[in-house]
Amino acid sequence: MTDGPKYGFDTLQIHAGARPDPATGARQTPIYQSTAFVFRDAEHAAALFNLQEVGYIYSRLTNPTVAVLQERVATLEGGVGAVCCSSGHAAQIMALFPLMAPGLNVVVSTRLYGGTVTQFSQTIKRFGWEATFVDFDDLDAVKAAINDKTRAIFCEAIANPGGYITDLDAISAIADAAEIPMIVDNTSATPYLCRPIEHGATLVVHSTTKYLTGNGTVTGGVVVDSGTFDWSANDKFPSLSQPEPAYHGLKFHETFGPLAFTFHGIAIGLRDLGMTMNPQAAHYTLMGTETLSLRMDRHVENALKIAEWLEKDDRVDYVTYAGLKSSPYYDRVAKICPRGAGGLFTFAVKGGYDACVKLVNALEIFSHVANLGDARSLIIHSASTTHRQLTAEQQRAAGAAPEVVRVSIGIEDADDLIADLDQALSKAVS
Ligand SMILES: *Cc1c(COP(=O)(O)O)cnc(C)c1O
Repeated sequence: MTDGPKYGFDTLQIHAGARPDPATGARQTPIYQSTAFVFRDAEHAAALFNLQEVGYIYSRLTNPTVAVLQERVATLEGGVGAVCCSSGHAAQIMALFPLMAPGLNVVVSTRLYGGTVTQFSQTIKRFGWEATFVDFDDLDAVKAAINDKTRAIFCEAIANPGGYITDLDAISAIADAAEIPMIVDNTSATPYLCRPIEHGATLVVHSTTKYLTGNGTVTGGVVVDSGTFDWSANDKFPSLSQPEPAYHGLKFHETFGPLAFTFHGIAIGLRDLGMTMNPQAAHYTLMGTETLSLRMDRHVENALKIAEWLEKDDRVDYVTYAGLKSSPYYDRVAKICPRGAGGLFTFAVKGGYDACVKLVNALEIFSHVANLGDARSLIIHSASTTHRQLTAEQQRAAGAAPEVVRVSIGIEDADDLIADLDQALSKAVS
């Protein structure tokens, strides 16, 4: 089908990017489990290698199954193109790679997935990149953190795990004034709940491992390109605006226009960094996207019901879910994610660290795992697991204090989940 804006989200999540297989008529997108693709002739091969013609060469760069997922997520996010990667963390590096160089920095929110805090505060230093962490509710501090070496602003739409929603409009206004791109990790919200490009995002990244796949089967990531940023407005982004020596001096922005970032991501990023999504993973994620809206509605409905129940319970100190009226971020839900605040939240258990450990041990339906965005309900005590590498101060800033557990509410019967939490809280808090 043609992926025009005339189709609604529920139609696009099933059809965007896909068409019956031209060779066999297969209705579901086949898993093209092939490393290489035969050139029609030597001229065809040369045109492909020169980026004069788009086609399939070798699956580190492009693969027909992965290409369907790229087009589907790009369409759902309202972007012009996308690059699928081997994981969400790979997608973050792939988003930054064309923008950064040794000595340059990215201004990032303190409220991020724990693994991202570690990637940005430690690992990217090995590339000579620097991340400056700022409270994104303090807009003056965000402005003050930007300097002439800053090449991007990075935040999460719904920040995992603290029930925080970023005021994307306010942050993108700052990015625009500084002539730098805003990158939004939309993993926790998904394009069904939040469309960051409509709030000024230049790039959107996902861990497709989570809700987009939706069943805890495969890791993957994607970078979606809005196509809206002028990479040639100044000399800040030479990888995209200046001649590329590895392609006979081709200038990506001049040649590919709004698709410059996407083409660079494939032709340079995947070719040379090799963080490629495999076709099996793309297949599972394509299956997941078909039911995204149905699942997200149920995640939101269940999360709200359970958060309200927990908030009233004596054994619980507080619940941080932006969908609750008590949340300081409640007003941002209508603006940033009008279909609901997602399926993730944290709550503080009376009795602190020890009670949290007892709680996760006593639950029967909830699984204690380091994952989120699954059809099944998950729980984790972040301070002793995902946020273990962080200092106590970083843990609190990220919403992962020692007395707090994070839940990823699944799509089971809400009453069963409440009963499970009830019995486990009885064992945890005496
Ligand atoms: C899981 C996650 C990541 C990292 O993704 P992987 O697929 O595990 O590499 C990044 N950001 C958020 C918000 C996540 O939930």
